Amino acid sequence: METYPWWSEAHIKLAEDAKKFTDEVLIPIGERDALLKKFSREGLKQMATKGWFGALVPKKYGGHAEEWGVTGAAIITEEASRAGEAAGGLGTTMFGSATQIVHNGTEAQKQKWLPKICKGELIGCITMTEPYAGSDIAGIESTAVLEGDHYIVNGKKRYQTIAAAADLYMCYFLTSSKPEDRMMYTHLTAMVVEKGTPGFHIEKINDTMGYDGSYNCYLSFDNAKVPAFNRLGQEGEGWKIMMGGLNVERILNAAPTLGPMRECIRYTQQHLQRRVQFNQPTGAIATNQFKLADMIWKLYLSRLVVYYSAHCADLGKDVPVEAAICKMFSSDSCMETSMEAVQCMGGNGIMKIYPIERIFRDSKHAQIAAGTSEVLKLLIYRQGTRNMKNDLHVPQRVIDPELKMPLPVGKPLPKTAVKNEADVLKVLAENYRVNPGLHMTLEDIKEWLDVSDADLVKYLESLEKQGLAGLYRTRKGIGMARVTYTGLQKANPPEYYRYFPAWADKQDCW
Ligand SMILES: Cc1cc2nc3c(=O)[nH]c(=O)nc-3n(C[C@H](O)[C@H](O)[C@H](O)COP(=O)(O)OP(=O)(O)OC[C@H]3O[C@@H](n4cnc5c(N)ncnc54)[C@H](O)[C@@H]3O)c2cc1C
Repeated sequence: METYPWWSEAHIKLAEDAKKFTDEVLIPIGERDALLKKFSREGLKQMATKGWFGALVPKKYGGHAEEWGVTGAAIITEEASRAGEAAGGLGTTMFGSATQIVHNGTEAQKQKWLPKICKGELIGCITMTEPYAGSDIAGIESTAVLEGDHYIVNGKKRYQTIAAAADLYMCYFLTSSKPEDRMMYTHLTAMVVEKGTPGFHIEKINDTMGYDGSYNCYLSFDNAKVPAFNRLGQEGEGWKIMMGGLNVERILNAAPTLGPMRECIRYTQQHLQRRVQFNQPTGAIATNQFKLADMIWKLYLSRLVVYYSAHCADLGKDVPVEAAICKMFSSDSCMETSMEAVQCMGGNGIMKIYPIERIFRDSKHAQIAAGTSEVLKLLIYRQGTRNMKNDLHVPQRVIDPELKMPLPVGKPLPKTAVKNEADVLKVLAENYRVNPGLHMTLEDIKEWLDVSDADLVKYLESLEKQGLAGLYRTRKGIGMARVTYTGLQKANPPEYYRYFPAWADKQDCW
């Protein structure tokens, strides 16, 4: 595994050890279990001997958070994911249960569960999705009602990774149906449900495309009695806790796409060097080289964004956009890489004698679990544009007298004191020349004019009434304005708006 300059000695040592252990121990187990469609308990047992489940748990409870952290957890999951099914349960325990207990649990809860998690004696499951609440996860309907020292839980969950083999379920239930709580996202409560809780059962084990034997399950809660002790945080803090864990969850959902990409590259390279067609190795064919090149740069970029985000998370930075990019880019890259690996290997690519056929099927999961690529794009758009707000401001531009083209002014121009609505109309008309077809926000207009909000609204409404301006309204009032054709005629003579490039024949510029 290639290391990064910002990794600590402990990370580098962990990476070397994890690679060796995965090659020598985990891959033979994982590939065997995948072919048998068997949940890999043996894989989990072996990983427990390495202390990997405690990557995000402080030393005090038997873990390695101080030396490994999110970067270490990513290193471990990247390596272990090369073993396919054998890695199942590692991530769900590390970022599903362990981190949430570390960050939100009471001391008594930490003492009860964390040491056993670190030893691999308790396997965790992330329990959010329901039959009627997928991408819109705030729509959870399973209810928890406090009765004395227990919650009575009713409802169902689905698509729960490794659920049939887990011991701890990091669950989110509805505890308030008041509209104001739903609006403020204080309607959910987080709690740890333990295997063996009365009224709590596996309803169904799904047969899935890929991740053979991974025990993806439906769960059923029928008047299940969950001790109030098991609640994490306060009632109504479930959404906050769920969102708080999602960044690390997404980084660590991205890391297990890196291992499969590496496996694709090494099996593809083996094939391209050894398969001879048309009197040459297929690796001598440029299109195959391009495919391998695409796999390699996608792996490089995916690893960069995963380990950069993990490093930021270790520094305590809030990284929702980075984590979403990690998950989206690396899962899409893994899907594309496995598809090209199959193609480069021809018929052998779809035979079960190589792991590439399995990786191709497994890859699709990553684009869906822990937030689909589309939902992540929504997050990147919303949060990313907020983060970049200062960089997104386009400078004031004016028509350059010589070039007759809009150019940035540099230092903002002094504002004109507004005497009447004609000044506002002038600005709207000028915007027709500089940003044709675009409306102006009130802030845009105020970059040119020294005018109060109230006066500006008054002038714009008056211009609208006279048919000189068109207004775009939002629920909050006037959002944007533009000039109308009549407004253009009123503001300037027709020649003012004309523009002909120097190369145009004069006789055609009429
Ligand atoms: C293999 C696997 C393992 C999983 N493991 C777990 C687990 O351990 N724990 C758990 O709680 N959940 C788990 N999930 C559930 C997973 O998080 C959800 O499947 C996922 O969030 C999408 O929900 P959905 O399947 O209901 O799809 P839907 O929400 O029904 O979405 C269907 C399609 O519509 C698109 N879509 C939905 N809303 C929007 C929108 N607003 N804008 C644009 N597109 C949209 C989606 O991108 C998708 O393409 C797992 C899922 C899979 C496949």
